[in-house]
Amino acid sequence: MPATPSPAASGRTPTQHDLDTLSRQLNRPVRDVVEIPARCVCGNPLVAATAPRLGNGIPFPTTFYLTHPVLTAAASRLEAAGLMNEMTERLDSDPELAAAYLAAHHAYIAARQEIGERAGTGPVPEIDGISAGGMPTRVKCLHVLVGHALAAGPGVNPLGDEAVAALAPWWTPDQCRCAGAWDDSAAVPSRDLSRHVKNLNAKNDGGAQAG
Ligand SMILES: [Zn+2]
Repeated sequence: MPATPSPAASGRTPTQHDLDTLSRQLNRPVRDVVEIPARCVCGNPLVAATAPRLGNGIPFPTTFYLTHPVLTAAASRLEAAGLMNEMTERLDSDPELAAAYLAAHHAYIAARQEIGERAGTGPVPEIDGISAGGMPTRVKCLHVLVGHALAAGPGVNPLGDEAVAALAPWWTPDQCRCAGAWDDSAAVPSRDLSRHVKNLNAKNDGGAQAG
C-alpha cells in the first residue's frame, strides 16, 4: 500500500531530505532546485524544478527535470521503442494536436516564469520563447514531456499525458515504486559525476534530458 505523504514531504518547497533524495536518485549532487512540483504517493520527489537562472548565472530552460529512476528508465525505454518519432509525425499531420502542443509550450514558459518569480531569480531574457523537449513542433525528449505533464497535471501537455500513460507497464501515478529504485542508505553524492552520467545517458537514451 502506498504510504501517506508526510506533511514534511508534501509541499512544493524542497526539504533537505528531498534534496538528498534527488541527489541519490540522480547519483550526483543537485543544484539550484527550487521546487518539487510532482511527488510519488509516498512523498518522494518525481520531478525537480530548477530555477531559470542557475546560481552561476547560466540561463536554464529545462525547468522540469524527471528524477525518479523508475520513471527515467521507463521513459528511456519508450524513446528506444520509437515513440518520439511517432509523436512528431502526428504533430505534422494533426493540426488539433499541434495546437494543443503549442499551448503546452506556452504553458511551460509561463510556469517557468512563475517559478523564477517565486525563486527570485528575475527575468531571463536569454531563454524567452524557448521551452524544452522539442516543443512546440517536435518531440526530442520524453523525459522532459513526462516531467512537464506530472508537474502541470493532466490536460496541459497532450503528448506528455500520453507519455505518462505509456509508462503504465512500469509506473502509474497511484502506486509507489520507490522501493529499491535508489540506495537510501548510501552517502549522499557530493562529487559531481554529471558528465559521466550524461555520457551514460547519451549512450542509453539517445540524448540527455537537458536537450
Ligand atoms: Zn514512492
